[in-house]
Amino acid sequence: ASALTRAESLITSIPDYPKPGIMFRDITPLLTDAAALRTVVEALVEPFEGRFDAVAGVEARGFLLAGAAAIVANVGLMPIRKAGKLPRPAASVEYDLEYGSATIEMHDDNAAGARVLLLDDVLATGGTLAAGRELLEAVGSEVIGIATLLEIDGLGGRQALGGDVHAVFRV
Ligand code: IMP
Repeated sequence: ASALTRAESLITSIPDYPKPGIMFRDITPLLTDAAALRTVVEALVEPFEGRFDAVAGVEARGFLLAGAAAIVANVGLMPIRKAGKLPRPAASVEYDLEYGSATIEMHDDNAAGARVLLLDDVLATGGTLAAGRELLEAVGSEVIGIATLLEIDGLGGRQALGGDVHAVFRV
């Protein structure tokens, strides 16, 4: 099997987590494997090579991939946090969840004019990545691409983002 197929096989499906009827995809076994981690991080950034100055990731699992991707691509890292955790005034965007809403925030350091690749581990409804893109645009960055390790089909995530998403794996 190719390195990517092998990496994909390390993603574990957990039925009925966090709620009955939900199939949770757990990427942490893949992260613990050195070859698989490098393979998927390189596959995330490869289509955008040379076209971005920074990688952005949404707390918490998005940080894992964004940190690795920034080093692999030799660019900066722009962390997008859940509300209430940043020490200085920050831009914020509120977005809808299945039940209720959430707010994400970021500082604007080095954001003006930056070409940013926005990453997250899993794309489900697309709400998180759409909010991340809105936040990056609010601080003056240009989102040149959106990439996810795993796209879950059938939840409308790709459509919510306007169709242009690079997914390394799809279920
Ligand atoms: P969305 O906003 O509905 O697209 O959900 C994506 C966000 O929820 C991402 O930040 C993921 O980390 C998280 N998420 C949703 N489903 C899963 C899953 O099956 N496994 C891991 N994370 C998930």
